[in-house]
Amino acid sequence: MGRVVVVGSFNVDHVWRVAELPRPGETLSGEYRTGPGGKGFNQATAAARAGAATAFVCALGEDAGGQLARALATADGIDLRDLPGRAPTGTAGIYVGGDGRNSIVIGPGANAELSPAFVEGQGDAVAAAGAVLAQLESPVAAVETAFRLARAAGATTLLNPAPADALAPASLLALADIVTPNESEFAAQLRRHAGEAVAAEALGQLDDDALHAHCRRLLPHGTVVVTLGAQGCFVSHAGVCLRGDAHARYRVPAAPVRAVDTTGAGDAFNGALAASLALRPHAAFVEHVRYANRYAGLSTERPGAAAAMPRDAEVRARFG
Ligand code: ADP
Repeated sequence: MGRVVVVGSFNVDHVWRVAELPRPGETLSGEYRTGPGGKGFNQATAAARAGAATAFVCALGEDAGGQLARALATADGIDLRDLPGRAPTGTAGIYVGGDGRNSIVIGPGANAELSPAFVEGQGDAVAAAGAVLAQLESPVAAVETAFRLARAAGATTLLNPAPADALAPASLLALADIVTPNESEFAAQLRRHAGEAVAAEALGQLDDDALHAHCRRLLPHGTVVVTLGAQGCFVSHAGVCLRGDAHARYRVPAAPVRAVDTTGAGDAFNGALAASLALRPHAAFVEHVRYANRYAGLSTERPGAAAAMPRDAEVRARFG
């Protein structure tokens, strides 16, 4: 059975739907809901529902948020490897305006306490994994430890460099086999690492040669998968092609879906990509990306992030 380890964040999301985003000094009423979130948890849920035996390495508070994470992990059969913290469980305050735009404030809380020593202690899970997936909502030193263990064990490392305002240092990129930014994350990392001032909106207009060149600047020795929303994604391999892929760069179109809520689409894509790599290690890379597009596409037909993650059987029933 394919095994995945996700190292990342768990947040309790507090979401207010408001007609317009509040301006300084303003007090508004809005429709409120709360639920699980955090890129790490969303991606672990996706990997598990895509069929991989999934371990989730995170830090939780000894509070209601921590209890929620434990209950949800149990329900999805996720092997929760949590560092119990003194800080409260991570939280996110999210305002969603009538036009769909949002403003988000994250309180990392316990997520900031995830330590290299604790990750080191999860070496048994990493050694058994086919793929190890992480984001930038956890301390970089903890992620680097996981990737170093993964490299030593021969597991594939995937870095989703999100959120866009977080820095993926060169030392971390050097440990990543696959990097999976969306357009704004790609633009942000290019600005920092290659000194390239490319607007996120402009990336969609670039031809394949230009995109490929940007990918190679960001990650000279690995694979970059730029997710492009309804356009699917762009894949760029360094030099030699990976297993069975005829080209060093190509686009993989999105699945035909009727999207109603794209929140967490990137998380769905990343969890499914890691699961597919672990479950089908001999498949061509393009097949993994095609699966991740279908998985993420289906997730956009339902509201919510973790709650919207489909099961592998649903993806197969829909797309074959
Ligand atoms: P993020 O959610 O991080 O901004 P993207 O918007 O690039 O990431 O979406 C990630 C993936 O989800 C895409 O590569 C695609 O597979 C899928 N996806 C997102 N939006 C749509 C859509 N409207 N139709 C079909 N697939 C979508």
